[in-house]
Amino acid sequence: MKIIVCVKQVPDTSGKVAVNPDGTLNRASMATITNPDDLNAVEAALTLKEQTGAEVVVISMGPPPAEGMLRELMARGADRAVLVSGREFGGSDTYATSQILAAAINKIGLEDEDIVLCGRQAIDGDTAQVGPQIAEKLNLPQVSYAAEIVKDGKTLTVKRMLEDGYMTVKVSTPCLLTCIKELNEPRYMSVSGIFECYSKPYEVFDYETLKDDPLIDATTIGLKGSPTNIFKSFTPPQKGAGMMMEGADKATCEQLAALLAAKHLI
Ligand SMILES: Cc1cc2nc3c(=O)[nH]c(=O)nc-3n(C[C@H](O)[C@H](O)[C@H](O)COP(=O)(O)OP(=O)(O)OC[C@H]3O[C@@H](n4cnc5c(N)ncnc54)[C@H](O)[C@@H]3O)c2cc1C
Repeated sequence: MKIIVCVKQVPDTSGKVAVNPDGTLNRASMATITNPDDLNAVEAALTLKEQTGAEVVVISMGPPPAEGMLRELMARGADRAVLVSGREFGGSDTYATSQILAAAINKIGLEDEDIVLCGRQAIDGDTAQVGPQIAEKLNLPQVSYAAEIVKDGKTLTVKRMLEDGYMTVKVSTPCLLTCIKELNEPRYMSVSGIFECYSKPYEVFDYETLKDDPLIDATTIGLKGSPTNIFKSFTPPQKGAGMMMEGADKATCEQLAALLAAKHLI
């Protein structure tokens, strides 16, 4: 049994966010971190590994420095890592990214009891599209927003978070789940893990590796294969300081009502 976890390296937006003159993120000048939801997906995979003996494979599409992140995830306990990297893949939007990741998952191979895990969304793109798109392209059943996962043979019972509660879903493997932070508390690297991570299998899949997959051709990957076009990008104007009103007496309430009425909000 295998658990494949899709992990994205993202700019660390807790620090200073650098923007290019054309409005795009200046990724090169910013520190990178592992996308937070993806750490929950890795932790879920490592917990299932402890219960079932599964092999955990972490996979990322990105430039060569993403190797550092993948080694760190192996130091946390993943068994194997794959970096999908190549000039042909650059400029991919979510449609093309999921096309390439689906082809890479085909290359690794999915068997009966295997599971693909993704984070719910990446903190830079924030679309939450890549996981569900991979499932569609691989024709896998999918459950998004997983807050609890219990495996029993070829069936997973997944508690998924909704806006106003939870829903419990049973799904058969192979399947894809997207994970949220409520699922678990990611573990740290262990000292022995740090020693071992450089001797664990690490592969790079480039265009040559994936080009024979039916999902891959020049019209489905990279900038040319990306149907999304950005017309305009801008920094939203800063919100004003706002106005504070204190007290629950009649006069204050009337004053508040008058202000809201003046703005046609009530
Ligand atoms: C026209 C266009 C051009 C773009 N060009 C570039 C570019 O040149 N370079 C660039 O870095 N970005 C580029 N992007 C952004 C890039 O397409 C998205 O960041 C990427 O598709 C993931 O979408 P998201 O961030 O919304 O992820 P989400 O859909 O929110 O991510 C959900 C989950 O999918 C998985 N996932 C997402 N992306 C990856 C990945 N790369 N590897 C492994 N798992 C992943 C993770 O598990 C993640 O938690 C471009 C976007 C557009 C629209």
